[in-house]
Amino acid sequence: SFKAIIIDRDADKKQSFTVGEMQESDLHEGDVTVAVEATTVNYKDGLALTGKAPVVRKFPLVPGIDLAGTVTASEHPDWKSGDKVVLNGWGVGETHHGAYAEVARLKGDWLVPLPQAFSSKQAMAIGTAGYTAMLCVLALEDFGLTPDQGPVVVTGAAGGVGSVAIALLAKLGWQVIASTGRAAEESYLRDLGASEIIHRDELSAPGKPLGKERWIAGVDAVGSHTLANVLASTRYGGAVAACGLAQGMDLPASVAPFILRGVALLGVDSVMAPKAKRLRAWERLAADLDIAKLDALTTTIGFEAIPQAAADIVDGKVRGRLVIQM
Ligand code: NAP
Repeated sequence: SFKAIIIDRDADKKQSFTVGEMQESDLHEGDVTVAVEATTVNYKDGLALTGKAPVVRKFPLVPGIDLAGTVTASEHPDWKSGDKVVLNGWGVGETHHGAYAEVARLKGDWLVPLPQAFSSKQAMAIGTAGYTAMLCVLALEDFGLTPDQGPVVVTGAAGGVGSVAIALLAKLGWQVIASTGRAAEESYLRDLGASEIIHRDELSAPGKPLGKERWIAGVDAVGSHTLANVLASTRYGGAVAACGLAQGMDLPASVAPFILRGVALLGVDSVMAPKAKRLRAWERLAADLDIAKLDALTTTIGFEAIPQAAADIVDGKVRGRLVIQM
């Protein structure tokens, strides 16, 4: 048997979790078995463990949407015992037993190779949040934006997606404006590469359809009024990559930025992203993410600290990224 966190619900559909043991025979179907070496806590894991949003849709379930580890058995042609792999998303930790267990059984098609540039722990310091930050940068690049066109704003700056986005964009030559509610994290954000810090209150209240043109690009992990205001202050011809909902799932915006300034809203999803896109994102992370900055934005916690970290992340109290070595 092995250690696992298991979420279940009672007859009234009230969700709770236990830290216990499970057997390999309890695992869901899959053609690859992985010894989990490292995992993390993302915002979505926080929602799953606290039950604040219906992330978990099958019970009982092992949560955890991200893992890195070593293949111990495989019936999939791409993988053999001993291979180092990374798993992000695909419904793992939502409808398929996930990362908060010492063993995972997964579909080989979901896995990507652990890039040589990273240890399992570093891959989890990146995790879904960091890989999504990379997808946002790729979306802006594919749209045709370049650092010489103007600054980029990053919202939810001190969070996981935000911190990795800042490190990546600064290394790529962008002037980064970081929007945060945590004034105390100013030096942390400047060390990651932000050159200007704005308070998130500037963006989080209902605003005008169009504002002063302030940035050519945006990476938004916050949604709601914040995304509406980011769009309203995007310069003519710019674009905003939207990936998150930390403020809310709503988008109380107008079409003004789209039809008067040709601004584009680029949607970013990491969960069902096809394999080619994932491989490209991980390749670019290996090339463009400064390891010293990755270490600076990472905090290592123990397996037993996962539930508290889950509560903290939904309260907006986690800085950067968390990693758990199994
Ligand atoms: P996180 O570490 O908690 O970061 C979120 C940040 O948003 C917080 O650190 C905080 O930054 C800011 N924030 C929190 N509550 C806010 C509020 N009420 N109003 C304004 N700002 C607020 O979470 P994460 O793991 O980086 O994920 C960020 C978001 O992206 C989540 O909504 C997550 O679900 C989403 N996401 C989506 C995908 C995808 O595939 N589309 C993938 C990964 C993550 P400051 O303290 O700096 O203000």
